[in-house]
Order: sequence, then structure tokens, then C-alpha cells
Amino acid sequence: MEEIALRIRVYGDASLRRKARLVRKITKYHRVILSQMAQLMYAESGVGLAAPQVGFDEAMLVVDIGSGLYKLINPVIVRKQGRQSIEEGCLSVPGVCIKVKRAKNVIIQAQDEDGRPISLNAEDLLACVMQHEIDHLQGKLIVDYAPLFKKISIRKKLEAMKQASKNEKMHQSNTKSCELQL
Ligand code: ZN
Repeated sequence: MEEIALRIRVYGDASLRRKARLVRKITKYHRVILSQMAQLMYAESGVGLAAPQVGFDEAMLVVDIGSGLYKLINPVIVRKQGRQSIEEGCLSVPGVCIKVKRAKNVIIQAQDEDGRPISLNAEDLLACVMQHEIDHLQGKLIVDYAPLFKKISIRKKLEAMKQASKNEKMHQSNTKSCELQL
């Protein structure tokens, strides 16, 4: 129970396209997974990680953009305002960088790891990262936002990832082309 070997799933892995389930009863199990997810996020120099990225289908995520660690369970965006567009990378789509239009400010309601309700007002980069991670809980990836020309240019890379994920090969974390890894 204390040692769970988490592995980052890459593009092509079915768990990335599954919609995460609500966590009904928060247990020690969820707290262990969340802390392992945070460790893995830091080890991969990421600033966010969602449960589907490590093969779990429950609605949980971790985020740390350098201002402290958030561990959120059952997060929901209840308000969106403004626009911003930031180049995003994804630990599950290594080597790909896509500019995604998102809200500049979001209000999120969630539960913390002890089940207490949280309301979070996120702006700018934090808002971007939260929206990226909440997308993961819906089975949505940055490639879904790519314009057609970009989709064509990254097609080969994505096909290679699909093949690698079928063979359960580890992804190459040294092929990062984007500052922001989520
Ligand atoms: Zn991601």
C-alpha cells in the first residue's frame, strides 16, 4: 500500500481517454496515490499531473506551479472569465507543444485529501494548469486543441507514441520541447 509504482501513461494508452469517476469516499488509498502522484510530478519536472495520466480513473489531480502543492479531489470549474493562450506541453504527450486558448481566471470547487470542501480562485498560469489537468479528468488532451496543420505535423510523433504505449515502453522524458509540462 505504501509503495505504489506509478507510471506515466503516454498518448495511445486508453486510460488517457477515459472519463474519471467521482471519488465517493476518500480513504487512505487516495491520500497515498495523491502523494505518489506529487512525487512523480516533481521527478518529471512537471507542474501538474492528473490521475488518468498514471492509469487511475478517479477524479484527482496534483498541481504545483512553484507557489505550493495542491491536491484536489473531484475538482469542478464553476466559473470561467477572460482569455489567455499559453504554450503547453504534457507529460503524456512528450515532445509536443501546443498553444491552447483557455480562460484567464477560473473558480474551482473541489475536496481536499481529507474530504473538506475547497473553493479556489485561480488566475493566469495556475488557471491554465488547473484547466489542463481538469481536461485530463474528462479524457481530453492538448492535441485535441491543435489546429489542423499542427495535427498533420505531429501525426508521426503521435503514431510512434501509440506504438510505444502498446509495448508499454517508458516514455522518453528527455524529449521535452516545451517549458510547461503538465
Ligand atoms: Zn497533461
